[in-house]
Parts: sequence; structure tokens; C-alpha cells
Amino acid sequence: MNCYECQTENQRVTPAVAVCSQCGAATCVDHTNAGHAYTEIHSPGALHLHEVPGRRMYCSTCSADRAELAAAGATATG
Ligand SMILES: [Zn+2]
Ligand SMILES: [Zn+2]
Repeated sequence: MNCYECQTENQRVTPAVAVCSQCGAATCVDHTNAGHAYTEIHSPGALHLHEVPGRRMYCSTCSADRAELAAAGATATG
């Protein structure tokens, strides 16, 4: 399997080392970010993000989405 991001962005064929746990795309080392999953805990007036144990791998696209989510969560929790 080859990296989806390399193939679509640069028309480059790079062997994949991981699979994104969010969208399922295969990614190379450069396009993989290790992180953690979060569960959303909704309480009145605030959104809290709780880290789930265990590592997750994310492609560069999903990493960007998650950064926005984390930033929104940090703002909400104050
Ligand atoms: Zn890549
Ligand atoms: Zn992804």
C-alpha cells in the first residue's frame, strides 16, 4: 500500500507505514501524526475533551481537523 497524501498531492509513490484511524487513508512517515483520541463530554455551557488511552495514527488532513477541535475545546473549557 502507498501513501494517499503523497499520491494525491504530489503524484508521488511512497510506501505507507500507517493507516489513519479516522479516515482510513494509508500514509507515509511524513504524513503520519501520532496522537490520542478524545471523547467529547458535554456539560451545561461547556465542551470538555477527555483523552482516550492508547495511541492513534492520523493523516495530515485529519490532524489539521483535530487541531481545530482541540483549539475549540480549549476555548470552551476556558
Ligand atoms: Zn506521504
Ligand atoms: Zn485521516
